[in-house]
Amino acid sequence: MSANVNVKEILAANEDYAGAFGDKGALSHDPARRFAIVTCMDCRLDPAKFTGLSEGDAHVIRNAGGRVTEDAIRSLLISYEMLGTNEWFIIQHTHCGMQGFTNDEARARFAANADRHGIDANAAHYIDFMPISGTIEENLVRDVHRLRTHPLVPASITIHGYIYDVHTGRLIVCEEAEKIGAAT
Ligand SMILES: [Zn+2]
Repeated sequence: MSANVNVKEILAANEDYAGAFGDKGALSHDPARRFAIVTCMDCRLDPAKFTGLSEGDAHVIRNAGGRVTEDAIRSLLISYEMLGTNEWFIIQHTHCGMQGFTNDEARARFAANADRHGIDANAAHYIDFMPISGTIEENLVRDVHRLRTHPLVPASITIHGYIYDVHTGRLIVCEEAEKIGAAT
């Protein structure tokens, strides 16, 4: 599929969407349901569908792995301090593409393709790609812990840890992450 086909299809779909926009232009920028989700960019995940969200309901922050990165933390801090959320869901998933490689392997891949893509692969040495080591559960617990112990995150915010099963569409609670993330 060429890029032009994608652009045409996207604009046609947007025309339909805007045509049925109704009164959504009057929505507040404060999430009505006062929660935020951090999840993976994986194309199989549709957080609005699997958690029942409509426009105006919640913040959804996505990145490779659904990791608690510096930038995810930045967004969550703004989410609670300026936009009023008080409950956060970290949702990682089974069969995540961020498992099964290391930073060194990612850097080697950029180096191997450097000529073909016309890039300077040395720059990859300055990027932590944040691949997932160990199990998803272990990784989720580490990420929830990182958020729970961040100096700017109030103890009153509940942080949930869930794993989305890409084969069933189900959210599975991670008890250890829930324990760490509980509000006090
Ligand atoms: Zn993923």
